[in-house]
Amino acid sequence: MNLSPTHHPDELLLYEYATASADLAVAYAVSAHLQFCASCRSFVATLETIGGAAFAETDSIPVSTECLDRVMAALECEERSAPLPAPLQFLSGSAALGNCCEVAHKVTRTSILAGEKPIAELIEGGPRSVLPAHTHESQEIVVILRDSYSDHAGRFAIGDFVASEPGTSHQPIADSIEGCLCYIAHNIAA
Ligand SMILES: [Zn+2]
Repeated sequence: MNLSPTHHPDELLLYEYATASADLAVAYAVSAHLQFCASCRSFVATLETIGGAAFAETDSIPVSTECLDRVMAALECEERSAPLPAPLQFLSGSAALGNCCEVAHKVTRTSILAGEKPIAELIEGGPRSVLPAHTHESQEIVVILRDSYSDHAGRFAIGDFVASEPGTSHQPIADSIEGCLCYIAHNIAA
Protein backbone atom coordinates (compact mmCIF):
# COMPACT_ATOMS: atom_id res chain seq x y z
CA MET A 1 0.00 0.00 0.00
CA ASN A 2 1.35 3.42 -0.95
CA LEU A 3 1.05 5.79 2.00
CA SER A 4 2.82 8.75 0.41
CA PRO A 5 1.26 12.07 1.36
CA THR A 6 -0.80 13.80 -1.32
CA HIS A 7 -0.57 17.36 0.09
CA HIS A 8 2.88 18.99 0.21
CA PRO A 9 4.52 22.31 1.19
CA ASP A 10 4.91 24.59 -1.83
CA GLU A 11 8.36 25.01 -3.38
CA LEU A 12 8.90 28.44 -1.83
CA LEU A 13 8.37 27.01 1.66
CA LEU A 14 10.71 24.08 0.93
CA TYR A 15 13.29 26.61 -0.27
CA GLU A 16 12.86 28.66 2.96
CA TYR A 17 13.26 25.44 4.95
CA ALA A 18 16.38 24.38 3.07
CA THR A 19 17.96 27.81 3.58
CA ALA A 20 16.92 27.94 7.27
CA SER A 21 14.86 31.10 6.71
CA ALA A 22 11.47 29.60 7.65
CA ASP A 23 9.85 30.43 10.99
CA LEU A 24 10.79 27.79 13.62
CA ALA A 25 7.27 26.36 14.04
CA VAL A 26 6.86 26.20 10.25
CA ALA A 27 10.28 24.55 9.86
CA TYR A 28 9.20 21.89 12.37
CA ALA A 29 6.04 21.31 10.31
CA VAL A 30 8.14 20.83 7.18
CA SER A 31 10.48 18.46 9.08
CA ALA A 32 7.49 16.41 10.24
CA HIS A 33 6.18 16.20 6.66
CA LEU A 34 9.60 15.18 5.31
CA GLN A 35 9.56 12.09 7.51
CA PHE A 36 6.61 10.84 5.50
CA CYS A 37 7.47 12.24 2.07
CA ALA A 38 10.33 10.90 -0.07
CA SER A 39 9.71 13.35 -2.93
CA CYS A 40 9.96 16.47 -0.73
CA ARG A 41 13.01 14.97 1.04
CA SER A 42 14.72 14.58 -2.28
CA PHE A 43 13.76 18.13 -3.36
CA VAL A 44 15.14 19.59 -0.11
CA ALA A 45 18.34 17.52 -0.40
CA THR A 46 18.89 18.99 -3.88
CA LEU A 47 18.31 22.54 -2.59
CA GLU A 48 20.68 21.95 0.32
CA THR A 49 23.38 20.70 -2.04
CA ILE A 50 23.01 23.80 -4.21
CA GLY A 51 22.81 26.05 -1.11
CA GLY A 52 25.84 24.36 0.50
CA ALA A 53 27.91 25.00 -2.62
CA ALA A 54 26.86 28.66 -2.68
CA PHE A 55 27.44 29.04 1.08
CA ALA A 56 30.98 27.67 0.75
CA GLU A 57 31.79 30.60 -1.53
CA THR A 58 30.59 33.29 0.89
CA ASP A 59 32.09 34.66 4.08
CA SER A 60 30.46 33.57 7.32
CA ILE A 61 27.72 35.82 8.65
CA PRO A 62 28.02 36.95 12.29
CA VAL A 63 25.07 35.80 14.42
CA SER A 64 23.65 38.26 16.94
CA THR A 65 23.98 37.37 20.62
CA GLU A 66 20.21 37.51 21.04
CA CYS A 67 19.71 35.05 18.21
CA LEU A 68 22.34 32.72 19.62
CA ASP A 69 20.73 32.90 23.10
CA ARG A 70 17.38 31.90 21.63
CA VAL A 71 18.90 28.95 19.80
CA MET A 72 20.77 27.80 22.91
CA ALA A 73 17.63 28.19 25.08
CA ALA A 74 15.72 26.01 22.64
CA LEU A 75 18.49 23.41 22.61
CA GLU A 76 18.72 23.29 26.39
CA CYS A 77 14.98 22.91 26.89
CA GLU A 78 14.27 19.93 29.09
CA GLU A 79 11.94 17.23 27.93
CA ARG A 80 8.76 17.14 30.02
CA SER A 81 7.19 14.04 31.44
CA ALA A 82 4.97 13.29 28.42
CA PRO A 83 7.11 12.15 25.49
CA LEU A 84 6.70 13.72 22.08
CA PRO A 85 4.73 11.51 19.68
CA ALA A 86 6.87 9.35 17.39
CA PRO A 87 6.75 11.58 14.27
CA LEU A 88 8.04 14.51 16.38
CA GLN A 89 10.84 12.62 18.13
CA PHE A 90 13.33 14.64 16.07
CA LEU A 91 12.35 17.61 18.28
CA SER A 92 13.50 15.91 21.50
CA GLY A 93 15.99 18.22 23.16
CA SER A 94 14.81 21.31 21.28
CA ALA A 95 11.08 21.30 22.09
CA ALA A 96 8.77 19.75 24.66
CA LEU A 97 5.10 19.30 25.37
CA GLY A 98 3.40 21.92 27.54
CA ASN A 99 -0.10 22.10 28.96
CA CYS A 100 -2.87 19.91 27.63
CA CYS A 101 -6.54 20.91 27.71
CA GLU A 102 -9.78 19.58 26.32
CA VAL A 103 -11.19 21.92 23.67
CA ALA A 104 -14.21 19.82 22.66
CA HIS A 105 -15.64 16.38 23.34
CA LYS A 106 -12.79 13.85 22.79
CA VAL A 107 -10.54 16.64 21.41
CA THR A 108 -7.42 17.82 23.26
CA ARG A 109 -4.91 20.55 22.52
CA THR A 110 -1.33 20.35 23.84
CA SER A 111 1.07 23.22 23.42
CA ILE A 112 4.55 22.60 22.03
CA LEU A 113 7.20 24.67 23.76
CA ALA A 114 10.57 25.86 22.53
CA GLY A 115 12.24 26.97 25.73
CA GLU A 116 9.26 28.29 27.72
CA LYS A 117 7.53 29.74 24.69
CA PRO A 118 4.57 27.97 23.05
CA ILE A 119 5.26 27.93 19.33
CA ALA A 120 2.85 25.32 17.99
CA GLU A 121 0.33 22.78 19.19
CA LEU A 122 -0.82 19.21 18.91
CA ILE A 123 -4.50 18.54 18.40
CA GLU A 124 -5.67 15.02 19.11
CA GLY A 125 -9.20 14.03 18.19
CA GLY A 126 -10.75 10.72 19.20
CA PRO A 127 -12.62 8.61 16.63
CA ARG A 128 -15.35 10.63 14.85
CA SER A 129 -14.67 13.62 17.08
CA VAL A 130 -15.63 17.04 15.75
CA LEU A 131 -13.60 20.19 16.28
CA PRO A 132 -15.65 23.34 16.81
CA ALA A 133 -15.99 25.36 13.59
CA HIS A 134 -13.37 28.11 13.55
CA THR A 135 -11.76 30.74 11.33
CA HIS A 136 -8.00 31.24 11.02
CA GLU A 137 -6.61 34.73 11.52
CA SER A 138 -3.25 33.75 10.02
CA GLN A 139 -2.11 30.99 7.69
CA GLU A 140 -2.56 27.69 9.50
CA ILE A 141 -0.27 24.78 8.73
CA VAL A 142 -1.37 21.28 9.69
CA VAL A 143 0.70 18.12 9.41
CA ILE A 144 -1.22 14.93 10.10
CA LEU A 145 0.87 12.68 12.33
CA ARG A 146 -1.64 9.86 12.76
CA ASP A 147 -4.71 8.81 10.85
CA SER A 148 -6.86 11.36 9.00
CA TYR A 149 -9.55 14.04 9.15
CA SER A 150 -12.04 15.53 6.74
CA ASP A 151 -13.45 18.99 6.27
CA HIS A 152 -15.14 20.94 3.45
CA ALA A 153 -11.85 20.93 1.50
CA GLY A 154 -11.45 17.16 1.47
CA ARG A 155 -9.84 14.33 3.35
CA PHE A 156 -6.31 14.68 4.74
CA ALA A 157 -4.29 11.66 5.81
CA ILE A 158 -1.07 10.84 7.63
CA GLY A 159 1.91 12.87 6.41
CA ASP A 160 -0.18 15.44 4.55
CA PHE A 161 0.91 19.09 4.84
CA VAL A 162 -2.11 21.37 4.68
CA ALA A 163 -1.77 25.16 4.53
CA SER A 164 -5.01 27.14 4.99
CA GLU A 165 -5.00 30.81 4.13
CA PRO A 166 -6.04 33.51 6.62
CA GLY A 167 -9.80 33.91 6.78
CA THR A 168 -10.45 30.22 6.02
CA SER A 169 -13.21 28.65 8.12
CA HIS A 170 -13.56 24.93 8.65
CA GLN A 171 -14.79 22.21 10.97
CA PRO A 172 -12.51 19.16 10.89
CA ILE A 173 -13.90 15.73 11.76
CA ALA A 174 -11.55 12.87 12.72
CA ASP A 175 -12.23 10.02 10.34
CA SER A 176 -10.90 7.10 12.04
CA ILE A 177 -10.89 4.28 14.47
CA GLU A 178 -7.62 5.33 16.10
CA GLY A 179 -8.25 9.06 16.24
CA CYS A 180 -6.38 11.80 14.46
CA LEU A 181 -3.23 13.54 15.72
CA CYS A 182 -2.09 16.79 14.08
CA TYR A 183 0.80 19.22 14.47
CA ILE A 184 -0.45 22.77 14.00
CA ALA A 185 1.55 25.94 13.42
CA HIS A 186 0.42 29.43 12.57
CA ASN A 187 2.56 31.08 9.94
CA ILE A 188 2.14 34.76 10.68
CA ALA A 189 4.80 35.65 8.10
CA ALA A 190 2.77 34.23 5.20
ZN1 LIG B 1 5.92 16.20 0.29
